[in-house]
Amino acid sequence: MAKGVWIVAEQRDGALRKISFELAATARKLADGLGEEVSAVLCGSGIEGIAAELGKYGVDRVYVADSPLLEPYTTDAHAAAVAKVVKEHDPAILLLGASTQGKDLSGRLAGKLATGLATDCTDVKIADGRLLAVRPMYAGKCFGEVVISSFPQMATLRPNVFPATENAKAAEIVPFDPALDPALLKTKVLEVQKDTSGKADLTEAAIIVSGGRGMKGAEGYAILEELADVLGATVGASRASVDAGWRPQSDQVGQTGKVVSPNLYIACGISGSIQHLAGMSSSKFIVAINKDAEAPIFTKADYGVVDDLFKVVPELTKECRKLLA
Ligand SMILES: Cc1cc2nc3c(=O)[nH]c(=O)nc-3n(C[C@H](O)[C@H](O)[C@H](O)COP(=O)(O)OP(=O)(O)OC[C@H]3O[C@@H](n4cnc5c(N)ncnc54)[C@H](O)[C@@H]3O)c2cc1C
Repeated sequence: MAKGVWIVAEQRDGALRKISFELAATARKLADGLGEEVSAVLCGSGIEGIAAELGKYGVDRVYVADSPLLEPYTTDAHAAAVAKVVKEHDPAILLLGASTQGKDLSGRLAGKLATGLATDCTDVKIADGRLLAVRPMYAGKCFGEVVISSFPQMATLRPNVFPATENAKAAEIVPFDPALDPALLKTKVLEVQKDTSGKADLTEAAIIVSGGRGMKGAEGYAILEELADVLGATVGASRASVDAGWRPQSDQVGQTGKVVSPNLYIACGISGSIQHLAGMSSSKFIVAINKDAEAPIFTKADYGVVDDLFKVVPELTKECRKLLA
């Protein structure tokens, strides 16, 4: 019988990503409810040394596949490695991040395991011994509850929504052979272009300062960059600014951009279309700066300023700089 709560941990450049700890802590909570154990799968090259850190967040066992064929990440190599160890152990629940990598891997993996998948969940719990996954639907207008009738019950969890609560366990490290045949791997990474800004990725940022059409042009973002520097934030954008060529597509927040859940989202000159809200409405605190008091963004904002952003943002930067000095 399928048993145990499993996660697929993520690492980049030999360091575990924050989503791995969020997955581990959530899996711990679910496993405690079921009276079962938590296991993690960790894939990469030269990563055995980081596996034990998952124990801090409640993982009992880490299955580690260490192979040069698993670095850099490719869908087919990672899906094959994870599917192999999952099939051998038959867990009841398998959680991944709704991160870029997790979104890419989870669909292929669910196909390989011939099971159901609830994506981008904002809550997971146990009901009648089964996983009950809660996910926003129709661009966040309502929430759906999903129960998966096959095993493992798979779900991806939205980053920054689940707390990475510590619950120390001495994780047992179990190396496994992913048995990858290079001849069967169809994808090859030719080049990796790294973001050299030193800023947190939008999906992991604790604070986001975001600008829309109200920024008037690419140069308008200078005041947002300044505020972001003071707050240690990452700059985001609406699709209108991306389509206008003011910001790169990688900055876009929303239904067709990134889904973000920072502690603080400051929306400047963004009207709050349903497609934009779909990407940021799970932020913990939302501040809106807009000169139109009727802008829909104010229906979601915890704090709002109705004024010209070119007046408000520099003042806000000045005050934040003083406070944080
Ligand atoms: C299929 C589909 C997918 C989409 N996906 C996305 C998506 O992922 N993300 C996304 O963002 N959009 C998306 N859109 C587009 C979306 O519908 C909106 O067009 C877009 O979000 C509007 O961007 P905006 O708020 O920057 O611009 P606008 O709606 O033009 O709003 C600009 C705001 O700035 C304010 N403003 C102007 N000047 C100032 C000033 N000086 N001071 C203060 N405020 C000022 C105005 O009052 C206004 O509210 C999608 C649309 C479709 C059809």
